[in-house]
Amino acid sequence: EGTIRFKDVEFHYDADRPILKGVDFDVPAGKTIAIVGPSGAGKSTISRLLFRFYDVTGGAVEIDGQDVRDVTQESVRHAIGMVPQDTVLFNDTIAYNIGYGRPDASDDEVREAARMAQIHDFIENLPQGYQSEVGERGLKLSGGEKQRVAIARTILKAPPILILDEATSALDTHTEREIQSALDQVSKNRTTLVIAHRLSTVVNADQIIVLEAGEIAERGTHSELLAND
Ligand code: ADP
Ligand code: ADP
Repeated sequence: EGTIRFKDVEFHYDADRPILKGVDFDVPAGKTIAIVGPSGAGKSTISRLLFRFYDVTGGAVEIDGQDVRDVTQESVRHAIGMVPQDTVLFNDTIAYNIGYGRPDASDDEVREAARMAQIHDFIENLPQGYQSEVGERGLKLSGGEKQRVAIARTILKAPPILILDEATSALDTHTEREIQSALDQVSKNRTTLVIAHRLSTVVNADQIIVLEAGEIAERGTHSELLAND
């Protein structure tokens, strides 16, 4: 479960300006694909089409062999978890922020997800900038800690498909390394689409696509792409 297929996908936001031109790839269940390319190449657009925020203007996007236009948007979004570049937190405890996508989750399940993402020490705290009714001040979370909240949320949601959108780009090198191991954990055995600027951040992807101006310029493994340079 979690197979992704882009079949000759064409897409434009404005009819006079094509954004994706014949983008074609397959991701088998449990494998990782990385989409690498410069800003504006169309990388985020690919994740928006997968989420069905927009529909393709040519070709098709399929999940598990089914055209995403033939299933409800809600079920598409349930199948996909996302760790965005910048996580915005709700005005509530870290535990609430981890569990909000799974109202049925027990406290123990929330704690276990927090432990796996290594933020369990302060899940009863509020994020900074928020104030509780009793006047307690919020805890300042670093960019890396906010990422961990998003990772814990995704661990708890356990979707078959995971999108990591430049998930470590806003972090310093040390934090990036720490987060990477949490991300490796959550993407293990799960179909994963990684969006990144640099080839160096996607060494372990099963398949890498280099996107330039909406077209696949190159594809291969990390070592194959390095050999071509
Ligand atoms: P990337 O993720 O590779 O930086 P995007 O997929 O975000 O690229 O954007 C690809 C192109 O589509 C860019 O030129 C961008 O300006 C344009 N674009 C993105 N979103 C919209 C939108 N909502 N309306 C019109 N153009 C957009
Ligand atoms: P659910 O369907 O589980 O109740 P949502 O529909 O709120 O959750 O979101 C489904 C997934 O889509 C979540 O992993 C969330 O992070 C992601 N998501 C929601 N809104 C956006 C957005 N505007 N851009 C990118 N990802 C989003």
